[in-house]
Amino acid sequence: MRTETLAVHAGVRPDPETGAIMTPIYQTSTYVQAAPAVHKGYEYSRTDNPTRSALQEAIAALEGGRFGLAFASGMAATDTILRLFQPGDHIIVGDDVYGGTYRLFERVLTRYGLEFAWVDMTDPAQVEAAIQPETKLIWLETPTNPAMRLADIATIAGFGVPVAVDNTFASPILQQPLKLGARLVVHSTTKYLGGHSDVVGGAVVTDDGETYQALKFLQNAVGAVPAPMDCFLTLRGIKTLALRIAQHCANARQIAAMLAQHPRVQRVLYPGLAEHPQHELAKRQMQDFGGMISFIVEGGEEMARQVASRTRLFALAESLGGVESLIEHPYSMTHASTADSPIASDPGLVRLSVGIEHVDDLVADLQQALA
Ligand code: PLP
Repeated sequence: MRTETLAVHAGVRPDPETGAIMTPIYQTSTYVQAAPAVHKGYEYSRTDNPTRSALQEAIAALEGGRFGLAFASGMAATDTILRLFQPGDHIIVGDDVYGGTYRLFERVLTRYGLEFAWVDMTDPAQVEAAIQPETKLIWLETPTNPAMRLADIATIAGFGVPVAVDNTFASPILQQPLKLGARLVVHSTTKYLGGHSDVVGGAVVTDDGETYQALKFLQNAVGAVPAPMDCFLTLRGIKTLALRIAQHCANARQIAAMLAQHPRVQRVLYPGLAEHPQHELAKRQMQDFGGMISFIVEGGEEMARQVASRTRLFALAESLGGVESLIEHPYSMTHASTADSPIASDPGLVRLSVGIEHVDDLVADLQQALA
């Protein structure tokens, strides 16, 4: 089945007792057993929950993968993956990632003996050169948050080290990393998959049975699982994912073109623009270019802060991927935890999550904010 069809149907089965077409919210912590350890596959909701099972199947299907696991947040998904490793293991990470990922890796996980090398993923030669005998994982975002850089997943996966791709910005509608050789795909389902800014969640998908078993063990052992209601909301969001992404992309294309012509804008970072340094890779690797745009304003940090404060329709808020348009200043907001680090984002950079409103209203709002 095509992804659009899977988005509506995957993981969803009518309730056998009532025929309810929507997956019920199994708001239960435990399950009655027929005899000690004799049950219907569900013992306790940290271990398994039917609403979560439906969501896990849906996300796995969308990514074209065999196994999906849902978590309480994108960071919980990331943290659970990193618990696969031992002190002394070396992990290569893209030098432009979500600020929270940087914070988790450098400020939490280094305390447990993991070593991270921050590398420019736009250059596969640098990635290959960073590989050591102890390297157990390459972690990348593409497009990256917030600089909108791309990594060539197939080339990097070809180096033989397992690759984890944070596919939050692209969504499985635009890019399916497992098909390009990645071992793991990670999502903050808070973003495009949920799509309505009303739920926080995360997910991991893999085709590798051993990795899945190890992660499934950790999901239960660590316990960073999502609540049934959150799984339901995410499943509901997923049904319209393909439609929403199409509109996000169409709106972003027009907005990027407008910004590229604007005298107050120094540079637009959008892979759909011919002048993006990796436009050719974007055309090869992605179905379309997504709803995220970053741009660097003339006038640096002060002007970036002003523009981000002046929009009326674009709400000044962290997060992304919802139906409503958002604007933010990564240097002081989502990426504040990298501000003093070697991977700090440009203080003059403004990030847009372009929503599904009418594009004319969005363009007018940005123009008045830049005027
Ligand atoms: N990955 C990316 C690319 C993100 O933008 C975010 C959050 O903004 C995360 C991961 C973390 O996800 P969550 O906020 O759901 O924990």
